[in-house]
Amino acid sequence: MLRCHTEEYVERIRRIAEPTWLDGDTFASETSFEAALLSAGAAMAAADRGGFALARPPGHHALADRAMGFCLFNNVAIAARHAQAELGLDRIAVLDWDVHHGNGTQAIFWDDPTVLYASLHEWPFYPGTGGPSEGNETTVNVPMAALSGDAEYQRAFADVVEPAIRGFGPDLVLVSAGFDAHEADPLADIRLTDSAFAWMAERAGTLAPRIGAVLEGGYNIETLPRLVAAALEGFQNSDGRLS
Ligand SMILES: [Zn+2]
Repeated sequence: MLRCHTEEYVERIRRIAEPTWLDGDTFASETSFEAALLSAGAAMAAADRGGFALARPPGHHALADRAMGFCLFNNVAIAARHAQAELGLDRIAVLDWDVHHGNGTQAIFWDDPTVLYASLHEWPFYPGTGGPSEGNETTVNVPMAALSGDAEYQRAFADVVEPAIRGFGPDLVLVSAGFDAHEADPLADIRLTDSAFAWMAERAGTLAPRIGAVLEGGYNIETLPRLVAAALEGFQNSDGRLS
């Protein structure tokens, strides 16, 4: 946890003893620390063995010292640092297709040339970051207009995201797999169909010798199971090693 978060912040979450609002969206209680540790641990296991961590709370908005947008600890960032420290992998790419920009992941790796962060997200939209002029050598933001659908995403993925990740040459791709860009999601205005997630997963699996995935958002509990299944099938159909 301390590879990505300050000791003071981790202690603050550990000590929560009663229901508490950490920001306008993010609620925590005395059991949240353990749940967040398990979620981060599942993300690390996904990096270890090429799996898909189906865990909550999500992580990509969490900053080094602050909870935000339902996220307590930045699971995918913790998994990336774990892979570097414990698996001996040098270069990690985080591919974030959650409909929201992963401001926390971007901030944690902003000055780190060994981790590429690439995100497709609705913009302008919560949390406000990830606009067209925001980026650097290893931070690639692809803001998408409201009402974009499969065709716009496939074009952006093929034209910008894939070349950036291939050019970076990662040893491992970690996917921040949110499903809130789906047409039936209540929180956002992107119109992806089920097959877009299968398509992105299949392409993602070709981008590195190893892959892992971590659940982020996705707020329609009727559609979430079948969207996760579609992505899993995509990962399994690709050249990647997600098991
Ligand atoms: Zn989201």
